[in-house]
Formats: sequence, C-alpha cells, structure tokens
Amino acid sequence: MNSKLETCAADCHPASVPDYTPVPELRQLQLKRLQAVVARAWQNVALFRSRMEECGLAPEDVRSLEDIARLPFTQKSDLRDNYPFGLFASPMKDVVRLHASSGTTGKPIVVAYTKEDVDVWTSVLVRCYASCGLHRGDIIQIAYGYGLFTGGLGAHYGAEGLGAVVVPASGGHADRQIMLMKDFGVTAMCCTPTYFLHLLDRADELGVDMKKLPLRAGVFGAEPWTESMRKHIEERSNIEAFDIFGLSEIIGPGVGCECRRHQGLHIFEDHFYPEIVDPETGAPLPDGTEGELVLTTLSKQAMPMIRYRTHDMTMILPGRCECGRTLRRIGRIGRRSDDMLIIRGVNVFPSQVETALLAIEGALPHYQIVLTRAQGLDQMEVQVEVTPQMFNDKIGALQELHKKLQGSLDRVLGIRVRVSLVETNSIERSEGKAKRVIDRRTS
Ligand code: ADP
Ligand code: ZN
Repeated sequence: MNSKLETCAADCHPASVPDYTPVPELRQLQLKRLQAVVARAWQNVALFRSRMEECGLAPEDVRSLEDIARLPFTQKSDLRDNYPFGLFASPMKDVVRLHASSGTTGKPIVVAYTKEDVDVWTSVLVRCYASCGLHRGDIIQIAYGYGLFTGGLGAHYGAEGLGAVVVPASGGHADRQIMLMKDFGVTAMCCTPTYFLHLLDRADELGVDMKKLPLRAGVFGAEPWTESMRKHIEERSNIEAFDIFGLSEIIGPGVGCECRRHQGLHIFEDHFYPEIVDPETGAPLPDGTEGELVLTTLSKQAMPMIRYRTHDMTMILPGRCECGRTLRRIGRIGRRSDDMLIIRGVNVFPSQVETALLAIEGALPHYQIVLTRAQGLDQMEVQVEVTPQMFNDKIGALQELHKKLQGSLDRVLGIRVRVSLVETNSIERSEGKAKRVIDRRTS
C-alpha cells in the first residue's frame, strides 16, 4: 500500500455486500442461478440444446454445482460460426447493447446485453472500484477505448455507478490525457498497463512529475502484465496499481479484480462461475494447479455462456483472502493456451497476419512477427520475405508491394503495424513448427 492511498470505508459501498456472502449461501445461489441459466440457454440457443442432447443431458440433470463438469464447453469458434446473432437467448426487443471484439477471420465476435445485463455489468465494476479503495468524490479518468471494445463503456458505467466523477477521455492523445490528469486533479486512472507506462514516459518528457499529482490508484487490465511491471509503475508514479480482468464473451471488464491485498483477483462468482481445466483434456483440475480458466455466466440474459474456454492460463488460489471477501481468487494471467497476442489491448492472431499477407501477390508465405516495446507501448513488426525477382526489380515495385501489404494488414488487424520486406531465406527456417512470433518485450 502507498502513502497517497489512505484507508477508507469504500469497501462498504452497498454494491460490495455480495463480496462477503457466507460460502454455503453463495454456493446455493450459484446452483440456483446455474440451473436457471442452463434452462434458459437450452430453451433459446439451438447450438447449446443440440450439444446437450449429444451428451444425453437435459437441464434437470444439473442437480449440484459439481454437475457443471458434465456440461459441454463453448469455444470462441462457436461465436464466430454463429456470427452475428446466433447465440442470443433474448429477442432483439430486449437487447439494449451490442459490443464486438476481434476474431480470427476478420469478422468480429459479437456480444449482446439486455438492460439487466448492463446493470449486472455496472454492479460488478462498482465492486471492482470499491475493492481498489475508490469511492464517491474520486475523479476517475477512463483511457480505455470507447466504442465496440467493451473496455471504455464498461469502466465508464461502473465509475458512474460508484458515484465517482468520470472523465471519459477514451484512448490516445497522451499529452491531453496528462493535461486532464493534472488540471482536473484526477485520482484514479483506468487503462492498459502499457498505456500507463507510455503516459509516464511522456509526462517525464513534458516535465510533469506524476508523483506530485493527486493520482493515487490505477486500475489496469485487458492484457497480461507482471509483478515487476507493477513495481515499476508504482515506483515511478507513487500510485497503487490494481489488476482487473475480463473478456467480452463473459461480460467485458469486471469479471475479476484485485483487492488491496494484491494476492490474486477475486472473481465475482455470484455472476461468473470459475473452473480450471487441463487445456489438453478438458478435465477439471484442483485448486492451486495451473490450467485453463473456464467461465460460466450465471445471470446473463441476452447471451449466456456455458463453460466458455477462455484459453487464459491461471489457477484458483487455495484459501481465503485476508480482506474478508468470500469470493475465490485466481492468480494473475501470464499466458494463454492458444496463440492469441494482445497488442495495445487489441487481440491479434498470427493466423490473421498470414491471411493478410497471402492475399497479396509477390510476398512469400515466410514471415515473422517481432514484438518490441518502445516507450511503454507494444510495437509489432511484420517481416515478410519477398521473391528474388522482386529484389532485382526496380525500387518502385518493392515500394508498391510494401504499400499493398501495409494496407492489407491494417484492414485485417485493425491496428497499425510496421511492415519490413526482407530477402528470400533471411528468416530462419525451423525443423518443426515455424516460430512465428519473436517476443522481445520485457517488463
Ligand atoms: P477486453 O475488452 O476486456 O480486452 P477482449 O475480449 O478483447 O476483452 O479480451 C479478453 C482477453 O484479454 C482475456 O481473455 C485475456 O486474455 C486478456 N486480458 C484481459 N484482462 C487481463 C488481465 N488483467 N491480465 C491478463 N490478461 C487479460
Ligand atoms: Zn481480497
């Protein structure tokens, strides 16, 4: 804990009460909600019903929480295959919001919310902020992108629900972010940890001493970050940095968050039921063992997710947190079981890069993704081999190819990456699987 963050009674925000539900009562509530959500998905989502039938199961077969392990998994590909609205369990007249996150094929993954879903989302974010020691009177700047991405609006509604003052800055424009932080006396910042690092560097250049600002907390998430990164951030800014976790398929940010003990992230398990499974076999793993996080939405109306495979590798931490919350905790997420990269908060799959490159004639299917971190921001370079003829050609042809590749990558990935053309055979060939990603980021 740090000196700028005095202890406060914010944990007593009315929305935080469910954080302290006695365990037997919590398990009972979870079972009741699990039975209801399974029945709802079975009645309204054709894919879920047919999967259940293939397993010889009906909703009545869920008699205990342990029975969840008998239910079929849901995968990201199910959302893609049923694009855009195929997994909705509510009629459109009850849907009030759509969000989307990047998928592997250029088509995004679509998620839907009813009014009740938005209220639940707001309430879990209020609980996140409260567990970070924030309360009414705090001035919270949201520097996650607003729009289809769930980060901005999710964090925004939560901060408003808390009763704090919201500064909806959205992403980008570092100088303006710093000016707002300074002039408005912002006390908490919500953004990706790498963006905050970038703001720290820029503040140094501008001669603004973050340590002297009223800023006392950072709520950072949407991408993996490490304890050493936390230490670095806290030392340079004299704030307390919190890890917040979420994913669009489940609700967006607010699935789990650290409390002030910083010993794992509490999952708001009255709404999201966590399991850890072996990523290869899908078999449940005991607490304290690392595996893939699987989440079930217990109260989602518009788009329930049953046993969603997040591909995020973590563990359920054994024992209770000293803060008194009865909610189980997961360890910080350091890696994924698939190949998805998260660059500046945007999901990127190496397979998307391949698709974009192969769409252009003259490029060979030999490429490598090089990730670096400059001024706290992730940079992605795509090195592409070109045919020998191209190199012998006039410079104009290479420039033309470069332009086409850049355009194709921009379109498919939705973020700006650097393209470098390299000579044939300059990318190391591998015996087995190609090593597509060279990660030179350090934190
Ligand atoms: P979001 O809008 O929250 O970024 P996405 O659906 O675009 O949601 O991405 C979700 C993925 O982002 C998660 O499955 C996880 O891999 C990653 N992620 C989100 N928060 C964290 C975090 N705090 N630590 C590590 N990874 C995270
Ligand atoms: Zn705790």
